[in-house]
Amino acid sequence: MSLTATYDAQNIFAQIIRGDAPCYKLYEDDDVLAFLDLFPQSFGHTLVIPKRSAACNILDVDSEALCKVIGVVQQLTRAIVAELEPDGVQVAQFNGAPAGQTVFHLHMHIVPRYTGQGLGVHAAQKADPAELEQLQARLLRRIAASRG
Ligand code: AMP
Repeated sequence: MSLTATYDAQNIFAQIIRGDAPCYKLYEDDDVLAFLDLFPQSFGHTLVIPKRSAACNILDVDSEALCKVIGVVQQLTRAIVAELEPDGVQVAQFNGAPAGQTVFHLHMHIVPRYTGQGLGVHAAQKADPAELEQLQARLLRRIAASRG
């Protein structure tokens, strides 16, 4: 998909926002939704998306929505690092298929990195649902605690 493609309201993240597809939700407010990546590249791989902005990528998202997304990215990165204690964490965002984008609703990746562990192949290997459920419960507890 090109950088100037028209937004497709049937993309999987739009379906998740509408409640038409499931997700392992970690956080939601009026503007932002965050959930576990179904094909994680590392343990704790999380996605954060705007709910109200029909934007494919960083070029067409409105800056107010983007600011709300990045604020949640920071909160969740702090909670994920506190809970999972990775040695590093990547925050990434891809625009257009040649840059690695596979879902064309703007999103930020939070990818914890562990020393000695390589990165899994992008969007390739589906995680075990039981593992995702356990991880979701763990992170939800930590997020609730960090919000006081
Ligand atoms: P990108 O390639 O940057 O567009 O990232 C899209 C991400 O969405 C990839 O990391 C996929 O593993 C992930 N993904 C695709 N479908 C789902 C889904 N139904 N639920 C959660 N994550 C998904």
